[in-house]
Amino acid sequence: MVYLDHCAELSGGELALARLLPALEHAVEARVILAEDGPLVARLEEDGVATEVLPMAEAARGLRRNRVRLAHFPAASALHTAVYVGRLTRRLRCLRPDLVHTNSLKAGIYGSIAARLAGVPAVWHLHDRVSDDYLPRPAVTLVRALATHLPASVIANSHSTLATVDRPGLVAQVIAYPVLMPPGRSGLAKPEEEDAVLRVGMVGRLAPWKGQHVFLEAFARAFPEGGAEAVIVGAAMFGDAPYEDDLHAQVTRLGLDTRVQFTGFLSDVGVVLRSLDVLVHASVVPEPFGQVVVEGMAAGLPVVASHAGGPAEVITDGSDGLLVPPSDPDALAQALRELASDPSRRRALGVAARKRALDFAPELIGEQVLMLYRHVLGVLVGD
Ligand code: UDP
Repeated sequence: MVYLDHCAELSGGELALARLLPALEHAVEARVILAEDGPLVARLEEDGVATEVLPMAEAARGLRRNRVRLAHFPAASALHTAVYVGRLTRRLRCLRPDLVHTNSLKAGIYGSIAARLAGVPAVWHLHDRVSDDYLPRPAVTLVRALATHLPASVIANSHSTLATVDRPGLVAQVIAYPVLMPPGRSGLAKPEEEDAVLRVGMVGRLAPWKGQHVFLEAFARAFPEGGAEAVIVGAAMFGDAPYEDDLHAQVTRLGLDTRVQFTGFLSDVGVVLRSLDVLVHASVVPEPFGQVVVEGMAAGLPVVASHAGGPAEVITDGSDGLLVPPSDPDALAQALRELASDPSRRRALGVAARKRALDFAPELIGEQVLMLYRHVLGVLVGD
């Protein structure tokens, strides 16, 4: 199989690919072709995945999703993309894979055109909601039409993601992301200590739609007298550096300088998860899947997440986590106060969360992906 991604950053969709491939290792000979060099290359190679970079010109690869306008599609980007499709087609003809699996929206477009030209079926792995709260309207229209016509099948990471592309003729299946259980742990994320300060965390790249600003506001409202500290894990990517500056300014404005820690990007978030009492996920638009939610649950943490998108499909409110309305710092503050005052509730939610996280075991998810591959290849062979 050949896997395609235009991006080599360690963002969620790329990490999901790096976690999926080991789960397919026994059945799939994988080769990843990336359109840029970056930290994902070393990450894949560490796991023994054959990886190559077929570089795409920056004018095409770096085209931001908010600049996609059908009538004014930058000519240089279109030209570079066409050239790239030609080079990729030649590479695929040489490699002769059974299937091409595309791992980003851009790779879905250029990759499935190249796959079609090379006579190979393509599967689109859809990590993003194709909706106008995330993409400009012309891009939404384009991607929805292409998803129906180009790939043999689409994998959507949640029902919420699938709903954004679903239309007559679409062949698609919802398959969640694999999430590893932290080894050697059986219960609560952190041993409880009397009088310990409550530690509340958020993990994920720093981006306005991820809602770190909502979390900070809620944290300040929940604990105006102190008694709790916050940790924000993650770095800004894809041009969101100004948002990071805004968050630091907000911390100062709220008088939280001594109580909020920013760690930057961590290659292993497990260490921080183990130090937390509560994990918050505060996306202000529906999160397509939200791996950090399941990672927190796998670590035995009570998770408070926005009631939308993937997290609302994963968490059963009040049983294995809490769901609060998105962009509502008062509701989030209320949930945090409740959890702060009730350690046994934190424990019960954490235990149930860990059990729920078992549904995302890599071997289960890997088997679902293999079934889909078999189905696509079987259908085509029988055609
Ligand atoms: N992550 C990480 N280090 C960090 C921050 C985040 O490894 O400092 C990981 C996190 O553990 C998760 C992924 O990045 O696996 C983010 O995936 P998610 O689906 O939550 O969000 P996305 O980035 O895809 O929007």
